[in-house]
Amino acid sequence: MREGTISRISGPVITARGMKGGRMYDVVKVGEEALRGEIIRLEGDEAVIQVYEDTTGLTIGENVEDTETPLAVELGPGLLSSIYDGVQRPLPVLLAKCGDFIARGISAPGLERERKWEFSPSVKEGDKVSGGDVIGTVREFHFEHRILVPPRVSGTVTEIRSGSFTVEETVCVLDNGTRLPMMQVWPVRIPRPIRKKLDPVLPLVTGQRVFDCIFPVTKGGTAMIPGGFGTGKTVSEQTLAKWSDTQIVVYIGCGERGNEMTDVLTEFPELVDPRTNLPLIERTILIANTSNMPVAAREASIYTGITIAEYFRDMGYDVALMADSTSRWGEALREVSGRLEEMPGEEGYPAYLATRLSAFYERAGRVECECTGERIGSVTVVGAVSPPGGDFSEPITQNTLRVVGTFWALDTSLAYRRHFPSVNWIKSYSLYLDSIGDWYVEHVAKDWRELREKTMYLLQKEVELQEIVQLVGPDALPESEKAILEVTRMIREDFLQQSAYSDTDSFCPMEKQYLMLKVIMTYYAQMNDAMNRGVTLKQIQALPIRTGIGRMKDLGNTDDLKKMIGEISTGLTALEVEK
Ligand code: ADP
Ligand code: MG
Repeated sequence: MREGTISRISGPVITARGMKGGRMYDVVKVGEEALRGEIIRLEGDEAVIQVYEDTTGLTIGENVEDTETPLAVELGPGLLSSIYDGVQRPLPVLLAKCGDFIARGISAPGLERERKWEFSPSVKEGDKVSGGDVIGTVREFHFEHRILVPPRVSGTVTEIRSGSFTVEETVCVLDNGTRLPMMQVWPVRIPRPIRKKLDPVLPLVTGQRVFDCIFPVTKGGTAMIPGGFGTGKTVSEQTLAKWSDTQIVVYIGCGERGNEMTDVLTEFPELVDPRTNLPLIERTILIANTSNMPVAAREASIYTGITIAEYFRDMGYDVALMADSTSRWGEALREVSGRLEEMPGEEGYPAYLATRLSAFYERAGRVECECTGERIGSVTVVGAVSPPGGDFSEPITQNTLRVVGTFWALDTSLAYRRHFPSVNWIKSYSLYLDSIGDWYVEHVAKDWRELREKTMYLLQKEVELQEIVQLVGPDALPESEKAILEVTRMIREDFLQQSAYSDTDSFCPMEKQYLMLKVIMTYYAQMNDAMNRGVTLKQIQALPIRTGIGRMKDLGNTDDLKKMIGEISTGLTALEVEK
């Protein structure tokens, strides 16, 4: 082991001498308490190290030991339902060891060592295997955890075991002597290899109307949720974590207040997946690095999270990763960069902020996995961004904007009016509309795109009309334009608004989403027809159907919506022109 001594301490960043031969991103143990850190710069025999734990009390001259391995995560059975800190230390284990306050220098492996898992082999002696191939499976809750040959390993199976094993015990031996346990280790800063990226042609179905129908993201796509304080970023991320149609969710609470994360930690274990009726926590991995925890571990947390996500992707699953908030991650990067006395870029962020952000989002994707044969998996990344003062011109928002496919701009004034999700429909966009068009035609309806376009057109028109109303009052508008305002109010209140806390509406199935929009658009078309015949807006507004539309969200049965479409047509056609 290479050993040096501390020569300088600056908050979470320390410098050590005598580190010649060390490598970038090697993990080191700092001081008597063996605090974990990572080499982030090397000059001569000096190493600059970011420390993942509180450095108060460290003194110059204490030892620094280079472990000569990069920061890595442990991957294998036992990940599901785990709650980790930013460097994959299991928080419940840490808390049990030291009470409410996590003492320093405590280490605990990411995967439990004593627990045994029932391993069923899926290869036999003589089979040729290479990186990514499944050698067996383990049942973890109801999930089939596929045990993969680690990337870049290959050979012929000379021994394969079956039965109960810990994650460290050998389950498979290859002809070149390689012994494979169920667990593998992967350095977090290096993307796990894939064969190739595929087009993002499948939507991530979230059960949220404004996301699914208006600004969709794909499986393997990327989305950002920027918004000022209290606009609903955390609620949105949690809603997505609950309802997205993926097999696995990685949720990173990054630098947000501790009590918010506590909410997640207490709420999640009780939630039930509406699709499978199983506890949601069984498909979830939580990574918590709250604002009161060390900044360097926060910097690492998103890499820990995405590496775990890639591991499940490699098994051929769809994974969704939520990061709340990437701004706090950026601030950690800025703090460490400041301590390094690097030349500051825009707003004090390091010049490499943009590269780091795009490299992170680049790890998302729907991919052909590396393995013999065919296997497809995906990692979808949704990052919350909290721009100071809600000002989207700041560097994290701008640099993220350049790399993501879907932009959900949360709006302070909508949140203030209690319009939730507060997604601003004028500023937001999705670049995936064309690529997922076929899926919608096949699984939802032929005219989905047309309905969406019409909705967007009307909402844009509403902005213009509202300007006129502000200037000259609503009476100046012709009836046909008043009708537009009537319909856009319905779109906003009866379609776009969706409470995360409603028993009946927090999750809205795709078919229902479509029918709700269809109801409103049918109403609009029929309204126009009637008005062309000379029927007045007042007459139309007096119809009971209007209140029916206001209650669509709570309808459990889509047949009721289909019936409503019929009633609108007959009701409005039957209206006679008043003499
Ligand atoms: P942020 O993380 O952006 O600071 P939060 O996600 O904590 O904001 O949301 C603030 C509050 O807004 C929540 O406590 C909740 O009352 C309300 N809210 C946000 N999104 C929704 C939603 N989809 N449905 C209902 N209420 C919401
Ligand atoms: Mg929040």
